[in-house]
Amino acid sequence: MTIKTKGYAAKSATSPLTPFEFEYQDPAENEIQIEVEFCGICHSDIHQARDEWGGSIFPMVPGHEIVGKVKSLGSRVTKFKVGERVGVGCMVESCQTCGSCKESLEQYCEKGFTPTYNGLYRETKKPTKGGYATQIVVDQNFVLKIPDGLDPAGAAPLLCAGITTYSPMKFVGVSRGQKIGVLGLGGLGHMAVKLANSFGAEVTVLSGSPSKKDDAKRLGAQHFALTKNEDEMTKLENHFDLIIDTVAAKHDVNQALELLKRQGTLVMVGISDKPLDLGVFGLVMKRRKIMGSLIGGIRETQEMLDHCGKHKITSDVEVIKAAQINEAYERTVKGQVRYRFVIDSKSY
Ligand SMILES: [Zn+2]
Ligand SMILES: [Zn+2]
Repeated sequence: MTIKTKGYAAKSATSPLTPFEFEYQDPAENEIQIEVEFCGICHSDIHQARDEWGGSIFPMVPGHEIVGKVKSLGSRVTKFKVGERVGVGCMVESCQTCGSCKESLEQYCEKGFTPTYNGLYRETKKPTKGGYATQIVVDQNFVLKIPDGLDPAGAAPLLCAGITTYSPMKFVGVSRGQKIGVLGLGGLGHMAVKLANSFGAEVTVLSGSPSKKDDAKRLGAQHFALTKNEDEMTKLENHFDLIIDTVAAKHDVNQALELLKRQGTLVMVGISDKPLDLGVFGLVMKRRKIMGSLIGGIRETQEMLDHCGKHKITSDVEVIKAAQINEAYERTVKGQVRYRFVIDSKSY
């Protein structure tokens, strides 16, 4: 038997997304069929649908911030029940045998993880298809439980934007009273503010746009500073334990480094496609650190979701219909979303 699925796909790098029908095979013994309720629009969906990173596979059904309900199960699935609310993030497979996978750091799988869309399944070499669709079939090891009480639309972006900012905070060890800077207040930044706040940190949003000040406070930041204002920046020198840098374009990292305390850490989670100019002085003089971080492993993603369930944290979302996807892409590129578009799967 096959599972008929409706969704939206990009047929080429230059065409808008249009309605697209495809099929899944019934779940294999370790797989789960999920009826998708909501899927977030991540900026990386747009980069890949437009082939801005190269190597894109078309037709492409994007989407890796997926929340839905279990519809059917393979014969060996033990972790999930029909009807349960679940999520799928950026990965659907990894080798499960390398050192990284053994530590549940599947995102750093030494053989490379299989992305939820725009990738090829390890065995069949068929292209993966994401969450801009009514259904998805996924290995149970890559399915997460969504805690009761979380709004499903608001929970969808936790699967990428949430874990991307949670994981480095856990790695660095954010604790109560620490001073955390969040550079850039977009989809990633707004999750970083909420999560840092939930750890009891003192949060400052560092932004280039004064219009974000009220939102920063509303989201839970204690302070706001304009990166263009030199006086404000000078006052914050040697101030932060950690700065989460969410800016996905070329920008001045040296300014951010100067704001770190001795041994403070600058974590890059936004990916600029152009190299950044790094002045080594800023690192050496205060033994500062700069690191990158990619999403999070499956175990840690579940931990993040449970944390969000306990603290009632979801993303601020604007729910749209499938027919609005292309318009939402334009608005996301222009930064006109507060803070994530989420597609309602009933609209396909
Ligand atoms: Zn994403
Ligand atoms: Zn691996």
